[in-house]
Amino acid sequence: MNNSKNILNYMFGKGAINNLDSILDKKKSKNAYVIYYIDEYFENNELINRLPMKENDELFFVETKDEPKTEFINSFRDILVQKSKNRPKAIVAIGGGATLDTGKAVANLLTNQGNAEDYQGWDLVKNPAIYKIGIPTVSGTGAEASRTCVMTNSKSGLKLGMNSDFTIYDQLILDSSLTKTVPREQYFYTGMDTYIHCIESLNGRYRNAIGDAFSHQAIALCREVFFSDNMMSEENREKLMVASYLGGCAIANSFVGVVHPFSAGLSVILEIHHCIGNCITMNAMEEFYPKEYQEFFEMAEKQGIKIPKGIASNLDDETYVKLYNSTVIHEKPLINALGDTFKEILTLEKVTAIFKRI
Ligand code: NAD
Ligand code: ZN
Repeated sequence: MNNSKNILNYMFGKGAINNLDSILDKKKSKNAYVIYYIDEYFENNELINRLPMKENDELFFVETKDEPKTEFINSFRDILVQKSKNRPKAIVAIGGGATLDTGKAVANLLTNQGNAEDYQGWDLVKNPAIYKIGIPTVSGTGAEASRTCVMTNSKSGLKLGMNSDFTIYDQLILDSSLTKTVPREQYFYTGMDTYIHCIESLNGRYRNAIGDAFSHQAIALCREVFFSDNMMSEENREKLMVASYLGGCAIANSFVGVVHPFSAGLSVILEIHHCIGNCITMNAMEEFYPKEYQEFFEMAEKQGIKIPKGIASNLDDETYVKLYNSTVIHEKPLINALGDTFKEILTLEKVTAIFKRI
């Protein structure tokens, strides 16, 4: 039975980031410095000047062209070890899912021996991580609330996080003023990650009342946001931030379904990013989620967002085999969605046909 852990402290509200200084001040530790991981979008942004950065702190900008790879995480750790700065009092991550996951992974690695790839899996992290604060700047992945940090091992192709209670942020600052500048398409794609997590979870076999309650509420908020006239109004950005947080809690209590494994295939083989990959996958999901398929495209139409189509329609046989393998490897969600015999449904021919429709 799950013994679920949630975020212990979160501060919610417009301008909440201005409290970072006092939160860090209250954290007592013999190490005085702080390490910041910040989404590269903010490199020349006035936000940097508002941060309570001190002389000994370290600041790294996180590139988002590629999603986190285990070697990036190892190299961030190596830089800190070389500078003898591997024991900060806190790690602060400010950005989207990629940056939030980077902060989580480095915080685990600084207190555990070995490399990031050694901890891809469930409950492999042995020692508590460095104290960490997560500050999302785009809403939807739920990375701020979840117990994983997704990374790809480019050598093995394995895309899997460090699923552990130690991966969960100690403190969140949920400040919707930070999401104002997200491009509209990105806002929709990432926001939809929470909708998709939750519809997959509610259609699964392994359900429980808590996971369901988080999912229902997150979906209700997504509907309010994406059926409204301005999905990026101040009020809607606040609602989506809450939906993302609740979606992250939902996933900690349940599993995803068919969409995420196909999207993971697109990511590993064609390097399509997670959230847009989910939306593209929805093109071929009518047979699995008929009502939600319809609702998803109604929301996209209402917001004038075009979902790309046809990116996997014309590939060679070898690539379809690779896509098949990197999809069906995700047994937990596929069993949740289709049962133990999911491979009888998702044959190579069937999976290829689905990718062609994507
Ligand atoms: P992201 O972190 O990849 O960022 C997307 C883009 O938005 C980037 O170009 C970034 O620079 C930009 N951006 C971020 N904030 C901005 C702002 N305020 N203004 C302007 N631009 C901004 O995006 P994402 O969709 O949040 O995250 C995807 C990542 O999250 C993937 O790596 C995925 O694997 C991971 N993920 C993790 C979990 C989890 O539970 N840990 C769950 C789902 C997805
Ligand atoms: Zn997702």
